[in-house]
Amino acid sequence: MQINEPYVFMGGTFDPVHHGHLRTALEIQQWLQVSQVSLIPSGEPVHREQPGCSAEHRLAMVTLAVADAASLHVDEREVSSSEPSFSALTLTSLRNELGPQRPICMVMGMDAYLTLPQWKDWHTFLSLCHIIAVARPGYQYQPVAQMDEFTRLHAAESPLVLTEKPCGSVLIHELTPLGISATQIRELIGQGHSPRYLLPDQVWEYIKQHQLYSYKRGK
Ligand code: ATP
Ligand code: MG
Repeated sequence: MQINEPYVFMGGTFDPVHHGHLRTALEIQQWLQVSQVSLIPSGEPVHREQPGCSAEHRLAMVTLAVADAASLHVDEREVSSSEPSFSALTLTSLRNELGPQRPICMVMGMDAYLTLPQWKDWHTFLSLCHIIAVARPGYQYQPVAQMDEFTRLHAAESPLVLTEKPCGSVLIHELTPLGISATQIRELIGQGHSPRYLLPDQVWEYIKQHQLYSYKRGK
């Protein structure tokens, strides 16, 4: 690990994890040349409706998905915590653990980035981490005025900033666009169709084995 290598993570419901998440995490890891990117599945979601299956199942699927990927890691802190999964709490817990100097980068899709003003304590995020917003098919960068100003005010000139400072910058990054969503996967399964090739085979096997998302054997 480089000295002061950023801790890079992507939070989400991962209901279920799919190749859009995994490919994003891997490309960010390669782009920033860090040894690992962590995926942090949420416990109880606070910004959205309840997920289609339990935190334990979602964590188990992410664990299966990254089992043979040395550069991807699962961080269980939100599922293990008794607190609700607020990003501000997660960032504080990471900052306490990693110390004041180590850069922390929070990766999110453009859909999530554009809703930031609705997240609890979002104004504190940049005092704890950098934010990397990645393009996602179907979501143009069309910010409300508040987000436009926020982005312009904090935009990093180059990714080097992410290693030079512990927090405080925003970067918008383009990578291979994959128009996959967990919503689409849940809908396919609910309609009796296979979601195969949108997500790792091990995750699809797990869904069938545990009959998640209204999966019916033999349908
Ligand atoms: P749902 O449809 O249930 O909302 P999702 O596919 O959006 O699921 P989430 O768990 O909500 O997955 O997303 C976790 C994070 O991953 C978010 O920051 C989201 O923007 C990002 N993300 C999800 N899918 C993609 C994708 N295909 N490409 C880039 N980022 C993605
Ligand atoms: Mg989503």
